[in-house]
Amino acid sequence: MTIARLLAGRSGEVWSCHAEDTVADAVEILSTRHIGALPVRDGTSAVAGILSERDVVHALKAHGEDALRLPVRAVMTAPVVTVSPETSIMEALALMTRRRFRHLPVLDQGTMTGFISIGDLVKYRIDRIEAEADAMRVYIQSA
Ligand code: AMP
Repeated sequence: MTIARLLAGRSGEVWSCHAEDTVADAVEILSTRHIGALPVRDGTSAVAGILSERDVVHALKAHGEDALRLPVRAVMTAPVVTVSPETSIMEALALMTRRRFRHLPVLDQGTMTGFISIGDLVKYRIDRIEAEADAMRVYIQSA
């Protein structure tokens, strides 16, 4: 099963921020949209960086409340690890586990077509496992 399959059931835009936005602007998006990370744009590449709530916590520890006035560029993580629509869900889960992060932008021929979190992948796996268990129960009962 691929990431493309997971993205197919989705509508809605991918929330993002610009590298020159302030951290406070990005925090506003993270909070109002109830999300944990934002891909960062800078006008030159598909994804210039990633800003996770964890980066905000590190910046607050390092700079105190001044962190909120810093540009996103100063606290984001770059370069970003990405996947393609053809990456399998299990591969993406393994990558997140190995690299210890919970977000992956999806790039299709240099364009960002999605942004997935570990929660999306785990939910997809659980739904599949439950569907398979249901099918198995029906099969056993009808045998
Ligand atoms: P997360 O667990 O995704 O909230 O992020 C933990 C740390 O990994 C933060 O410093 C993020 O900026 C960084 N990070 C998250 N996703 C990625 C990614 N796809 N590529 C590189 N760094 C990432």
